[in-house]
Amino acid sequence: MIEVTLKKGKEKSLLRRHPWVYDTAIGKVAGKPFSGEMVKVLGADGRFLGYGAYSPASTLRVRMWSFDESANVETPQFVVDRIEAAVRARDGLLERTNARRLIFGEADGLPGLIVDAYGDWLVTQFQSAGAEFRMQEIAKALMDITGARGVFDRSDAATRAREGLPSRVGCLIGEDAPAVIEVVEDGVKYGVDVRVGHKTGFYVDQRESRLAAQKLAREFRERHGRGMRALNCFCYTGGFSLALMAGGADEVVSVDSSADALAQARKNAQMNGFDDDRMKWVEADVFDYLRKAREAGETFDLVILDPPKFASSHYHVERAARAYKDINLNGMRLLQPGGHLFTFSCSGAIDVDLFQKIVAGAVFDARKNTWAIERFGAGADHPMLMTYPEGEYLKGLHLLMRP
Ligand code: SAH
Repeated sequence: MIEVTLKKGKEKSLLRRHPWVYDTAIGKVAGKPFSGEMVKVLGADGRFLGYGAYSPASTLRVRMWSFDESANVETPQFVVDRIEAAVRARDGLLERTNARRLIFGEADGLPGLIVDAYGDWLVTQFQSAGAEFRMQEIAKALMDITGARGVFDRSDAATRAREGLPSRVGCLIGEDAPAVIEVVEDGVKYGVDVRVGHKTGFYVDQRESRLAAQKLAREFRERHGRGMRALNCFCYTGGFSLALMAGGADEVVSVDSSADALAQARKNAQMNGFDDDRMKWVEADVFDYLRKAREAGETFDLVILDPPKFASSHYHVERAARAYKDINLNGMRLLQPGGHLFTFSCSGAIDVDLFQKIVAGAVFDARKNTWAIERFGAGADHPMLMTYPEGEYLKGLHLLMRP
């Protein structure tokens, strides 16, 4: 195995089991590893640090697959064992849903590999040279271990380019996926388009928050003797909107700029038999919509803000912070005392603390007396590896407007 020796002092993060090695940390490479080749990483003093997959095109040059010198990292069994462990860890979720993340990259010891299950199909994203190199092995192991009917690949994320990998979409193994796969989550049905939908087709990561919305709608009805009037901004295929209806909301206004997402959202509402008159779908830019709604004197019992990633890297944090503040301020202005705000950020470059500060800034400008009564994050199928906190990208707050 080719040896990669780090510069002096650069072994510290690996000793803490952080799984990434940047090109700038590398002193010497004893050979010319191909894209995805397994290498042995050594400290400047020659001590063993771990095994990782080499990515010649990426500044993130090596992603670690094991810190155990005796691990047989290059054998198919190694991959089988990792996948088996990842899949078993998610078995419990089946009681609630058949839309689950089965493999979450670094957290599952399979750097750069994303696998989501939608009913009988799996959808993959190979986002690292190492995962890409072992694609066939991985696809076969996934079929054997899960008994899936097919694996559909959505390796079209922008992150692939940084690894020098081309975009790829299509059936990898087994039966081709149907145009729309029907899934159920906490009693609500959703149609998932794995070919052109966002990410792998659905925001599996928002499951716990959608359930919280469903519960809030139910509690609201019990307490007030009427259902809530809610505004779901950035609704995509209606995730939160349908959860709110299932909980007994009276009216849900859903806003998104994508006509395709709204078309799927309407179909999803029909699939659940939800009354059309109580669901309003608006194709608009949320930044504009919130201003217009205020001018029109609209008010809501709940506003949900689940925008796309505003900061794609730390270079964009400042601009993103202004955008988050804008929607949070204008979202809050549509709430009366007693109103609720669910607000989220999925930008990895904006951490929990910074997000809280941005939202606090909006609270201050809105001159609202506000409590945070709940924190949100991705579900248990997106665990944060304690040695790799960067894996935690999704955070959210439940705010309550006080008198
Ligand atoms: N809450 C959703 C996921 C939201 S994804 C769920 O649980 O499924 C973000 C959505 O924001 C996408 O559907 C995208 O089309 C939409 N979007 C992005 N920018 C927008 C803008 N400026 N105005 C309105 N919608 C926008």
